[in-house]
Amino acid sequence: MTYVIQPPATVSLPVRGSDSRFPVHRVYCVGRNYAAHAIEMGHDPDREPPFFFQKNPDNLLAEGQDFPYPTMTEDVHHEIELVVALKKGGDDIPEDQALDCVYGYAVSLDMTRRDLQGQMKEQGRPWEIGKAFEHSAPCAELVPADEIGHPDQGAIWLKINGEMRQEGDLNQMIWKVPEMITYLSRLFTLQPGDIIMSGTPSGVGPVVRGDKMRGHIEGVGELSLSVV
Ligand code: MN
Repeated sequence: MTYVIQPPATVSLPVRGSDSRFPVHRVYCVGRNYAAHAIEMGHDPDREPPFFFQKNPDNLLAEGQDFPYPTMTEDVHHEIELVVALKKGGDDIPEDQALDCVYGYAVSLDMTRRDLQGQMKEQGRPWEIGKAFEHSAPCAELVPADEIGHPDQGAIWLKINGEMRQEGDLNQMIWKVPEMITYLSRLFTLQPGDIIMSGTPSGVGPVVRGDKMRGHIEGVGELSLSVV
């Protein structure tokens, strides 16, 4: 097999305690999945059906790399999120089998051009320019569920320059991990290598160049990087 141009590289995430990496197929993101964040964004926290958007796999930013402040925006926000990485996929996955599809978990950031996202919302246009830009998904190493189980509670927080900005608990998720896998698998054929960013607790806000972001999810790990 030859290609007319050089094929793009496979995007992958490191795995804690392993020399092997996790290849990434798609990046799904859940919107407004913590009630307090839905309220701060001006929405009703009632349990509406979940909604999803996507980032591109090559938007992932490896641990150890700084976050370059993106172009065409003056209001970039941090959103600390738990990543769920799938080793198995399928259509219409029953809820009681959903966790069998999970390879592991990671700490990530759904970096957002809030000003552009806001304009797109107002105009009823898609969110890609606000969400799916270069380096918009910093992600730490994956930790296998074989080692840590399936965390459904525990602190999730983000500090900027040592100051607490976002603070919540995984048990505040409106749609739990098995429910979001089941729901997604009705909309899309899930594949091994898909990852899901599971939404952010309240306290989102802007970053500026020079800020040091440090995120933590109890039982999963940490992610530290600077805005440059
Ligand atoms: Mn988000």
